[in-house]
Amino acid sequence: MARLSFFVKRMSFKKGDFIFKINDKRDVAYIIEKGQVNLFGRASESQHNPSITIGDGEIFGESAILEGGCRSASAVAETDVDAFVLSRSVLQSRMDELDPLVHLIISMLLDKYCRSRLVEAGAVPQDKKFEFSDTEKQLVTAYEEQKKVVLKELQMEQELRRALENRELKAYLQPIIDFATGCVRGYETLVRWHHPEKGVIFPNDFIPIAERTHVVQLIDERMLEAACALVPRLQDIAGDDAKDMFISVNLSGANFDDETVVARVIKALGKANFDPKQIKLEITESALVNDAEQATRILSKLKKTGVQIALDDFGTGYSSLGYLHKFQIDTLKIDRSFVTELNESEKALDIIKAVVGLAHTFNLDIVAEGIEQPNEIEVLKNLGCQYGQGYYFGKPIFYEEALTELKAIFDDKDSKGNIIMFKALQSKNS
Ligand code: C2E
Ligand code: CA
Ligand code: CA
Repeated sequence: MARLSFFVKRMSFKKGDFIFKINDKRDVAYIIEKGQVNLFGRASESQHNPSITIGDGEIFGESAILEGGCRSASAVAETDVDAFVLSRSVLQSRMDELDPLVHLIISMLLDKYCRSRLVEAGAVPQDKKFEFSDTEKQLVTAYEEQKKVVLKELQMEQELRRALENRELKAYLQPIIDFATGCVRGYETLVRWHHPEKGVIFPNDFIPIAERTHVVQLIDERMLEAACALVPRLQDIAGDDAKDMFISVNLSGANFDDETVVARVIKALGKANFDPKQIKLEITESALVNDAEQATRILSKLKKTGVQIALDDFGTGYSSLGYLHKFQIDTLKIDRSFVTELNESEKALDIIKAVVGLAHTFNLDIVAEGIEQPNEIEVLKNLGCQYGQGYYFGKPIFYEEALTELKAIFDDKDSKGNIIMFKALQSKNS
């Protein structure tokens, strides 16, 4: 996300105003929004640098963001002019947000430009006498850095594809607890990469790259298949009690670029011999904002397959109440950051209250994420949250281990035949 200090400013000039003059310090470039600008060089250079007039959408003074130094031409407003002002820091922050491959190519072109200027000046790049300006040095360094970033990403993409083939991506499960009963209501699948040399790699270290390279759709499909295979295992362990349990799967926003995700979900459910509502797809709000109409279409098709939908990390994104009634959502997951700050910040408490109110209005379930302290449960319950997830109840563990744990819980019923996971919670409820 663009840092606020790097926003593009806008300036207005009256007809006849100088926007800059020859020999002024080069600092910014301009993009004309409306009007006409005349550019003219030194009299002695007029043959090479004749006067020209440019208009809407044209960029001028751009050497300021490439070279620094002084202006070699003047710019005068031929009419009243509105222009956007582009600084190097704006350009840099926008470049940092680019796809690394596009970033590399632009850096390479800028690097070439800087080197060709040295050659034009009669120097060879290795020549110590003709040094790059500070601005040029930054551009050349950015190119060197970008080469490393892109190589790492391209290698990671190849490795991820190999990892998928070798089935190195494993489903870990974290329990989601029903506050009313103290028992497991479902599990969230969280992917872990069991790398043969590097050990266990966490999703934050590969999901962003997988998203840029579209490998994430394959990962999500794999996790969905794993979830579909887990539901019958829950039934084996919990019998009829399993009918109300669910397994949730994370769906990256990259899946919302086109509608193929619907076919992938239908395919995964195709072999399933259980109620599809036992699968819950977790989607972040940001996945729905790019193309809201397409997202609505896809979500409604996903919903028709019978699965449940949860909005993940709720409260951190571009929360727009508009979509809550438009999209058919079943669950809101309150982001961990609010739960963590629950005891220190009134604001976090207010946000959770507002989310709970919203959920009640739209008849949605609420899961509070990131519960680490028992006192958080009490507050969340009092606010009206029904479900919780967090290290306090259990960290994500390898799915076979999670199933073994669940079996032990079901084997250990109390004298009335109740299944209790968190005795403290249960006794407070009874
Ligand atoms: P998320 O979907 O918000 O998942 C919750 C993350 O918070 C998990 O991190 C979980 O281990 C962690 N967490 C749960 N309870 C606590 C707690 O009490 N304290 C703290 N500090 N952390 C807690 P994890 O597994 O590292 O996953 C990070 C993110 O990676 C996930 O955030 C999700 O956005 C993404 N991710 C994980 N698996 C997949 C996947 O299969 N597909 C996609 N597309 N994304 C995935
Ligand atoms: Ca999630
Ligand atoms: Ca989350």
